[in-house]
Amino acid sequence: MLWNTAPHNRQKLAIARRNKLVVANWKMYGSLALCRETINQLNHIIQPGADLIISPPAPYLSELGRLAQKTGIHCCGQDVAAQQNGARTGEWSATMLAELGCHHAIVGHSERRQHHREDNVLIAAKAQACIDAGITPIVCIGETLDERNAGQLERVLGQQLDALLATSGWREAIIAYEPVWAIGTGKVATPAIAQAAHQFIREYLAKTDADAAEEMMLLYGGSVKADNATALFAMPDIDGGLIGSASLEVHSLVRIYQAASLTSRAAAQMTL
Ligand code: PEP
Repeated sequence: MLWNTAPHNRQKLAIARRNKLVVANWKMYGSLALCRETINQLNHIIQPGADLIISPPAPYLSELGRLAQKTGIHCCGQDVAAQQNGARTGEWSATMLAELGCHHAIVGHSERRQHHREDNVLIAAKAQACIDAGITPIVCIGETLDERNAGQLERVLGQQLDALLATSGWREAIIAYEPVWAIGTGKVATPAIAQAAHQFIREYLAKTDADAAEEMMLLYGGSVKADNATALFAMPDIDGGLIGSASLEVHSLVRIYQAASLTSRAAAQMTL
């Protein structure tokens, strides 16, 4: 299930390509009690073929990492600086996340783009900083409703992807397609709409490197819930989900993980 690419000789635990993957983004919610409850409820249901990463607020990373040891559950940063160290109060680096045992960091979430004015160039620099430190960036891209309605979907995604493609390490990334209009709104993209965007992303990457595009993990994010996860994860270019609010309810995260596990097994049987 897990493979070791060990860039710079760092023991790197990467998620096997095209396994299903669920990433729980707690945003600025949660507590130590939620860390304990989540690990307690999920640690015995982790199965080959479907991976689970929890991304709590940074102050909880250490404790969550400790609780998750030997469970098969991994933890990840919600953001990272573009530099490895420096006089940058309030920030933390990819090297520090790696030291805590994180193998991934989310970069470019639309809330960072909106509230912290992060642009494609900065986000690409953060992705490269992760790769340089031996951890995998989960790079979020997606369009606003106005952009979609104006027929700008492909232009916007193309620009966001071009910035990532300009980094030397883009093949090591995971991409999360998160239409901004679906994040935290309860308006989920239909499986067909999400699949169409994912297919566009894979084909866009394939123009640069077809093999890397085929292996690239593409997650869908935006109001994924227990009752819509299976249909989304069953789409051929959707390799799992980045889950916000539904990941804060342990029972719903359990069901979303089970949807990933089920669709992973179904996909494996189809390729036999
Ligand atoms: C997110 O925060 O990345 C997200 C997808 O949130 P939600 O699932 O709440 O829409």
